[in-house]
Amino acid sequence: MKGMILDAKWEPRADYQLSEWERSTGKAITGSAVWRHPKLEVGDWPDPQPGPRDVVIEVQACGVCGSDMHFYETDDEGYILYPGLTKFPTILGHEFSGKVVEVGSEVESLTVGDMVTAEEMIWCGRCTPCRNGFPNHCTNLEEIGFTIPGAFAQYIAMDEKYCWPIDAIAERFGDEEKAYEVGALTEPSCVSYNAMFERAGGFRPGHYVSVFGAGPIGLAAIGLARAAGAGTIVAFEISGPRRDLAEQVGADYVYDPREVSPHEVLMTLSHGAGFDFHFEAAGAPHLTVPEMEQALAINAKIVQIGRAAQRVPMYLESFQVRRAQAFGAQGHSGHENFPNVIRMVAAGRLDLSEIITAHYGLEGVVDAIAQSTKRTDGKIIVKPNL
Ligand SMILES: [Zn+2]
Ligand SMILES: [Zn+2]
Repeated sequence: MKGMILDAKWEPRADYQLSEWERSTGKAITGSAVWRHPKLEVGDWPDPQPGPRDVVIEVQACGVCGSDMHFYETDDEGYILYPGLTKFPTILGHEFSGKVVEVGSEVESLTVGDMVTAEEMIWCGRCTPCRNGFPNHCTNLEEIGFTIPGAFAQYIAMDEKYCWPIDAIAERFGDEEKAYEVGALTEPSCVSYNAMFERAGGFRPGHYVSVFGAGPIGLAAIGLARAAGAGTIVAFEISGPRRDLAEQVGADYVYDPREVSPHEVLMTLSHGAGFDFHFEAAGAPHLTVPEMEQALAINAKIVQIGRAAQRVPMYLESFQVRRAQAFGAQGHSGHENFPNVIRMVAAGRLDLSEIITAHYGLEGVVDAIAQSTKRTDGKIIVKPNL
């Protein structure tokens, strides 16, 4: 089959302490410290060989993620920017939907023809965090499109336990093609849902919500906040097109954070009360958190979902005086995240279809990723089997 393959050179930086585990598995824990001179190209890759509990999915839509962009972009020394778990060569792509075309002998929940989306995190179910109910913190984690082959390809094999049917979304839209595209937004939406409702415990209807960063994760957060009954939603985003999208999915006020003082805006809009829930999806916490902590309502929550490998100055006195909390969130698995997001989309409560701003075929994946580095699109969708 054809797929978009990323290969790079294993050249750990001189100051990076490679662990024994990294050496023996060939997996880098901090990709940006190990992988150099990435090469992305569409090429031939062996067809997936399904195990007894796997289904083979013909990929119909796969979104370009910020992490894909960070594989394409390099620093001055040629290292990839993505700081997470990685093993190359592999096929990229992890936000997808498709049609089941083959099922293994022991598969019970799916049949040929089913429309599905899937988790990206291949949690083991056997390690202590998994057994304690925290699959997003699995210690034996594999990730499709990062350490094992992903979905910028014609086919992918997945254990049925990571797949979730999206036929209810198809019923909602009355259009299979649209359902696959919207279905491919499930994974990033679940990242926001997990952060907002599972990790940080959500907010009360009427609460004021701020979202810093209106890329796909922030846009999903805005849509979810609207659906959950936020009183006022304010978004801060430097890209003009993304500010427009933020408004379309439900932000009441949208600002360029370079042109206003975000905490002053939030204090003015809340008549001095502060905002109850702050969502960091800009990946710039050294800039955003100091703004949030000057606009904390009593009992306010901050949830960190944007990735940034840096320390952030925090004035904890504000957290004491305002009875505030900060939460770290990662991942999308477990905690009813996938079923609940699919329900919201199927019910029309969460409609992010407008954030899809561009489409590419499989031959154009590298162009699609290059386009994403402009950071002006909402979600770019690749359709490998068109
Ligand atoms: Zn992603
Ligand atoms: Zn595990």
